[in-house]
Amino acid sequence: MSAPSEKSLAALLDERRTFAPPEDFRRRANASDPGIYDRALRDPEAFWAAEARQLDWFTPWQKVLEWNVPWAKWFVGGKLNVAYNCVDRHAHSARRNKAAIIWEGEPGDSCVLTYGMLEREVNRFANALRSLGVAKGDRVAIYMGMVPELAIAMLACAKIGAPHSIVFGGFAAEALRERINDAKAKVVVTCDGAWRRGSIVPLKASVDEALRGTPTIQSVVVVRRIGDAAKAAMQAGRDVWWHEVTDAASDQCAAEPMDAEDMLFVLYTSGTTGKPKGIVHTSAGYLVGVSTTHRYVFDIKEEDVYWCTADIGWVTGHSYIVYGPLANGATSLMYEGTPDYPDRDRFWSVIDKYGVNIFYTAPTAIRTFMRWGTELPARHSLSSLRLLGTVGEPINPEAWIWYHDYIGRRRCPIVDTWWQTETGMILISPLPGLTATKPGSATRPLPGIVAEVVDAKGDAVGPGAGGYLVLKRPWPAMMRTIYGDPDRYVQQYWSRYPGVYFTGDGCKVDEDSYFWLLGRVDDVMNVAGHRISTYEVESALVDHSSVAEAAVIGRTHEVKGQGISAFVTLKEGVTPDDALKNELKQHVVGKIGAIARPDEIFFVSELPKTRSAKIMRRLLRDIAEGRILGDTTTLADPAVVARLKTQYQEEG
Ligand code: ATP
Ligand code: MG
Repeated sequence: MSAPSEKSLAALLDERRTFAPPEDFRRRANASDPGIYDRALRDPEAFWAAEARQLDWFTPWQKVLEWNVPWAKWFVGGKLNVAYNCVDRHAHSARRNKAAIIWEGEPGDSCVLTYGMLEREVNRFANALRSLGVAKGDRVAIYMGMVPELAIAMLACAKIGAPHSIVFGGFAAEALRERINDAKAKVVVTCDGAWRRGSIVPLKASVDEALRGTPTIQSVVVVRRIGDAAKAAMQAGRDVWWHEVTDAASDQCAAEPMDAEDMLFVLYTSGTTGKPKGIVHTSAGYLVGVSTTHRYVFDIKEEDVYWCTADIGWVTGHSYIVYGPLANGATSLMYEGTPDYPDRDRFWSVIDKYGVNIFYTAPTAIRTFMRWGTELPARHSLSSLRLLGTVGEPINPEAWIWYHDYIGRRRCPIVDTWWQTETGMILISPLPGLTATKPGSATRPLPGIVAEVVDAKGDAVGPGAGGYLVLKRPWPAMMRTIYGDPDRYVQQYWSRYPGVYFTGDGCKVDEDSYFWLLGRVDDVMNVAGHRISTYEVESALVDHSSVAEAAVIGRTHEVKGQGISAFVTLKEGVTPDDALKNELKQHVVGKIGAIARPDEIFFVSELPKTRSAKIMRRLLRDIAEGRILGDTTTLADPAVVARLKTQYQEEG
């Protein structure tokens, strides 16, 4: 593991434009006073306390922060209820008939839940959970597609103080079983099946398989999403239908007063770098963190329609489809399908259908849209959009510009938001009314956040230099521990530098103190003594007009230490041949320098990705080095890796 070098980083981009916030945006922005950064830096606890006052508390806190490195307690002594803050208080205000959730299902289905309706549904399901014996502190596993009942189930858990553990509905039975057992869940909430591109994903059948080895599960609640075609088998004494248990339940339910530090949920990381970790988040600090950042970063206004395209099975969906937006009384759009069904312009037609104002998606999706061409978004107005966001991976400058030009129509600021399951909330991002953006940079730590890029000894690196991203002060939505494994929490995040949170990401700061994320520290290569980040080489490749996506790895090389291997997918209609390989190698040389010239390029039809759609370079490294593959349970499609392995052995 080594930090990227100054030399190669300085050469990273010839995209040098900066984009100032449009004047009318700046004037109306929720964060429009640049003094917010200094204020928060001078007295972070006062800053967070002021934000915390936006929530409804049953008992006020006595102390904002108790910090015994690395154990944090925020809003000590305070009591509140997260669901009450996200639903009830709005349902008993002028927002009663405002849309809380707009749900767009696979073609043909849609519905709107107002805050008043959501309150009744959450109460019914909260009572249903209680009738199944779920009490405060019991864990509930949730394994569903993107249906409204998923949000209802989360909020119902929060209402009665039962931490949820959501497992992405795309995972197979084994991954579900592991997560149920790790969290020792008492109940699973699922669907008979989920729709995906017009076909049925048999969720209930996966649950049945997972439950062959889950001693703690007592009941299964099943949403009837598909109907008879799902052929879900109900096991008497264990399985109940959602509609039956909720029909029988009262729509009145008092919120459980929760200690600020009571656990709200456990959620497993994406597994990009290894075996997933069960991240624990608690109630008050988490809600303060996600509501504050949602308000400032997404500039949410009363009349906005806000759409985050993530799946709720990931932290992005937890924090920025459900908890952040609903705490702010916003209208959050929830989408069930995929971007390409029934057509590849589905996202753009959904934006026009609902007049979406704020749109938040991932670089991997943007690269896919680029591959599909500009004609698809051009068919739609997209005139309601006023702000765009991205999360999940570093965004290649080429993709940033495309997003800005063809989706934002050069009118919308872009917030590139850096954060992790562990951080709970966005930590590094522009504030869209204040920050001039640079394509490829997440810009600055948010107010109240102290981030730094350090070298191996822990000393801050100078402008232009690369190193490790660390966080030097606690923040309210930070993880509290790894579920059932406090030692690993200390070891993984707090042991490299005393008192400092180690993110595991490589980063550089530029002369304006902007942060440039460079991917995982393990993804930084050492080529003949030069440290080069895989992200720089990938960005240079994606910059070429024929390339759709690229994954770059360092492979042991007798002479250079590491050689560079690139796996490349091409845009539609491009012919893969040796001439193009040479052209791409030259393109990288032209962008970064001869030192970054890939030793080998493979044209592949797909890259290995996690189910949260991040490129998994570690498996490519395993293939290139002829090793046994590491943990593959979080792969989106195991067949991709199998094909790549064969191809590598044939061509490599
Ligand atoms: P695991 O921790 O299990 O290996 P993971 O790190 O992919 O998986 P997540 O918590 O989903 O799990 O992802 C967080 C990581 O995603 C960050 O550490 C960072 O590497 C990457 N990331 C997220 N947003 C950005 C961004 N805007 N720019 C650059 N990288 C980002
Ligand atoms: Mg991680």
